[in-house]
Amino acid sequence: MKRILVTGGAGFVGSHLCERLLNEGNDVICLDNYFTGNKENVVHLLDNPYFELVRHDITEPFYAEVDEIYNMACPASPVHYQYNPIKTIKTSVMGAINTLGLAKRVKAKILQASTSEVYGDPTVHPQPESYWGNVNPIGIRSCYDEGKRCAETLFMDYHSQNDVAIKIIRIFNTYGPRMNPNDGRVVSNFIMQALRGEDITIFGDGKQTRSFQYVDDLVEGIIRMMNSDPKFLGPVNLGNPNEFTMLELAEAVIRLTNSNSKLKFMPLPQDDPKQRQPDINLAKEKLDGWQPNIQLEEGLLETIKYFKTKI
Ligand code: NAD
Ligand code: UDP
Ligand code: UDP
Repeated sequence: MKRILVTGGAGFVGSHLCERLLNEGNDVICLDNYFTGNKENVVHLLDNPYFELVRHDITEPFYAEVDEIYNMACPASPVHYQYNPIKTIKTSVMGAINTLGLAKRVKAKILQASTSEVYGDPTVHPQPESYWGNVNPIGIRSCYDEGKRCAETLFMDYHSQNDVAIKIIRIFNTYGPRMNPNDGRVVSNFIMQALRGEDITIFGDGKQTRSFQYVDDLVEGIIRMMNSDPKFLGPVNLGNPNEFTMLELAEAVIRLTNSNSKLKFMPLPQDDPKQRQPDINLAKEKLDGWQPNIQLEEGLLETIKYFKTKI
């Protein structure tokens, strides 16, 4: 039995990860400050004696004896990470330093949840890990993008300087049950709007693209990455290469919810990436043929089922 720390464990992705790790017979410490996460996401795990829930802010030092760390703590929706941008960058940077310091002290293996946002508004399409990105250092998305880029640097430097066993994944847009209904990201917004019969808010002309991954596929990739060859550090892209425009996503959500909602066009936020699609060849090669199995329609139906319980 391994003792595993999941920071941000009460969030959307973190809660699925905690559940999977417990099911595999591990002892799990879930750490969260509940900024965007919620006890409700993990309340069903509280009966398990091998699950421990800790209220803690990862910008402060944390002490525990663990074998592995999944560093997931950080708001992921632009609405939330822009609410307090200084706190967002502190969470990424000081959070990385504290979890890496912990990993160094107890000789734990540590995985960083990085993001496709390190590619910014990409000029290379689809994005391979070798692409260095096109990121504005002083825009409204910078607190998130640059925080995550700096965290990647810290991970690499703790590895080379202090011999910490690290893994870095770059997650592309992921959706599924337990996303916060007020999360502000496009999938949750569109589904909640469609279920309530409200207008679907399309930012810009809706022709910008994203590639949407269902959460179960991501969790499978995360676990495979943690258990991959120790010499493989990443970064590795984890995403579903099927790419859609926001207009296509809106059409699918309206159809699958049988909604009467109409489209409402709103201004495109500053620095909004125009296109995004992961190149997943490295993941396939290094993670035992990993690839996403759940396509958009099937994943949306599961997510819609969840959001219906939140109305
Ligand atoms: P989320 O907002 O649901 O989860 C983040 C969790 O971190 C929340 O529970 C929040 O309360 C917690 N948290 C935030 N700041 C904290 C702090 N200072 N101390 C302790 N806990 C803190 O988002 P998510 O979608 O589950 O994202 C999880 C991770 O994956 C994040 O690091 C995010 O950047 C990364 N990621 C997610 C996506 C995606 O599409 N879901 C894409 C790229 C990267
Ligand atoms: N740290 C932590 N838990 C630990 C060990 C370290 O939170 O179990 C924090 C510690 O407070 C420090 C940071 O991790 O601020 C980085 O630790 P490191 O040993 O790399 O640096 P130093 O303590 O020498 O500044
Ligand atoms: N978006 C939209 N309507 C919304 C929320 C988002 O059209 O109500 C757009 C947003 O402008 C972006 C895309 O959907 O082009 C994905 O946005 P999200 O916030 O989900 O993620 P990110 O931009 O970080 O990929």
